[in-house]
Amino acid sequence: MNIPSRLVEDAVNELSKLPSIGKKTALRLVLHLLKEEKEYTHSLTNAINTLRNNIQYCKKCFNISDTPLCSICSSATRDKTTVCVVENITDLLAIENTGQYNGVYHVLGGVISPIEGISPADIKIAELIAEVQAEKASGEKIKEVILALNSTMESDTTAFYITKKIKPYNIKITTIARGVPVGGELEYTDEITLGRSIIARTIYE
Ligand SMILES: [Zn+2]
Repeated sequence: MNIPSRLVEDAVNELSKLPSIGKKTALRLVLHLLKEEKEYTHSLTNAINTLRNNIQYCKKCFNISDTPLCSICSSATRDKTTVCVVENITDLLAIENTGQYNGVYHVLGGVISPIEGISPADIKIAELIAEVQAEKASGEKIKEVILALNSTMESDTTAFYITKKIKPYNIKITTIARGVPVGGELEYTDEITLGRSIIARTIYE
């Protein structure tokens, strides 16, 4: 792409590093920013910097949070005895958006992938086992772990590994019903289908 300004080119290059933003879209965004009031670019860059500097990850479930404990973990109305295990935060948000789930979550931060050199120690599996072992302050223990992982080979390996680790604790292990297409990512599944698959979950075997 031939851009007659180095400054514009630099901005286009940075923006096009974002997912699903190609060079053409990036250029359109840059030209749009130039048309807007200066205050807008200031508040935009400010918001991004503040976000990057201050965002936290919930110490319990690893969800994004403004506080050490996220709003879901600290909510009095959520069922703390049911834990939904997801691969990443976008999957958590997808399930939250269905409005069909009232338990808590555990974000793994990836899946086991020998090819990519990701071992169980690289994702938050030990933390999940610790949660399963821990007696809740209320005296309640986790009763059900829902595996809401994607349907790739790596996700299946991860689900199998987690199940093996949790089995000894005599906890119900379920998996979301597969209205989710094979190989389909949770975050791209429509809310109704995903909501149904949470409700119609089955025992993991
Ligand atoms: Zn949390």
